[in-house]
Amino acid sequence: MPRLAIYPGSFDPLTNGHLSLIQRGLDIFDGLVVAVANNPDKTPLFTVQERKQLIRDAVRGDTRVEVDSFDGLLVEYAKRRGVHTVLRGLRAVSDFEYEFQLANMNRKLDPQFDSVFVMTGEDYFYVSAKLVREVARYGGDVSGLVPRNVLLALERKRAEGASRR
Ligand code: ADP
Repeated sequence: MPRLAIYPGSFDPLTNGHLSLIQRGLDIFDGLVVAVANNPDKTPLFTVQERKQLIRDAVRGDTRVEVDSFDGLLVEYAKRRGVHTVLRGLRAVSDFEYEFQLANMNRKLDPQFDSVFVMTGEDYFYVSAKLVREVARYGGDVSGLVPRNVLLALERKRAEGASRR
């Protein structure tokens, strides 16, 4: 049986930090389901469809990676998929507290559920999608922090925003 894990997140947008984690995850698991969370409480920069397409394009050709999305509870999605392990990243101590709570809550909801934490490469530990969005919005250079297709998509969004103003 191949060992699979779900890598859930907002991916708004995908960053090199996420990609680094996907690569590390593939050293541990046979395959990953990268699952874009559709969170109705957030107003994302990219739609779920756009986020999925950006991930697909960035990992193109790697058949070990499937890209999907889900609504609602992660544990319910994981049960539906028959996968009981999630991959999560740790950047700094500040990530730990929230991740610790989340992992325990998920295990409470589904005792079979397990979380595997991986640290990103030292080049990307400070990269978050939120920071990338903010810097790109004001025209800052994020070229080393995201894959090329995401860079182009951020430029397009910025141009669209400027033409609406
Ligand atoms: P972000 O916090 O960047 O908006 P997500 O909500 O999409 O990202 O995060 C999904 C998962 O990826 C989380 O477990 C998060 O800790 C992890 N992650 C995001 N960026 C990095 C990074 N640069 N290094 C390690 N893990 C990361």
